[in-house]
Amino acid sequence: MAEKLGPVARDVIERNLAKVRDRIAGAASRAKRTPADVRLIAVTKYVSPAEVKMLIELGVSEIGENRIQEAETKKETLSLFPGACFHLIGHLQTNKADKAVRLFNFIHSIDSERIASALNKEAQKAGVPAIPCLLEVNVAGEANKFGIPPDESAIAQLVERSKSLLGLKVTGLMAMAPFAENPEPTSRPVFRRLRELRDAVALRTGTPLPELSMGMTQDFEIAIEEGATMVRVGSALFES
Ligand SMILES: *Cc1c(COP(=O)(O)O)cnc(C)c1O
Repeated sequence: MAEKLGPVARDVIERNLAKVRDRIAGAASRAKRTPADVRLIAVTKYVSPAEVKMLIELGVSEIGENRIQEAETKKETLSLFPGACFHLIGHLQTNKADKAVRLFNFIHSIDSERIASALNKEAQKAGVPAIPCLLEVNVAGEANKFGIPPDESAIAQLVERSKSLLGLKVTGLMAMAPFAENPEPTSRPVFRRLRELRDAVALRTGTPLPELSMGMTQDFEIAIEEGATMVRVGSALFES
């Protein structure tokens, strides 16, 4: 469970947001990319609905949560802002697929055919438009992390099978790098590998997979240099 913070003041969030956006722009420019090609997903698991509202009022339109239960406490706030996009970034169990498709507009954490089928079934039952989804890859092979092994055939197979699931639309891959004090030597190879896997699987399956969700507070600039189109940043937005 994410460690909860107390209330965070609007001016703190505003200042942090400006810094994060600056750092995103800097990393994008180093990589000769456009900052607009990198979407900031503000991860709000540490804070309450009040801070979510502040973020959206400050112009953040994409909010990420890693647990269904926590997301439910924020649903009402999100519903005040129909333009906002709510992202599920954490592991999902099949028995919560019904809630997931009703809460979220984007799912980053599909890691098996079983969960893909369950989400597809529930999405069709709920009558929601096809949900954009990413396949989570456990690039570093960490025992405590979820994700498909970093194997081109395994990922390609799940992409192929997902094509018949009309309730979902797989648009890319997601990964987390191991925690590190100095992320450069550990995160960069993970992000580079995810991009290479994406390129290979897109080619092999003839499926465009434009999205790469990678990078958090510790390493989002490295991720952008390696091609991230979505960074999931929490702590950096709320620290004082
Ligand atoms: C919490 C979380 C993040 C954000 O982490 P920070 O280090 O606080 O930026 C990103 N992705 C996932 C999957 C998370 O659970």
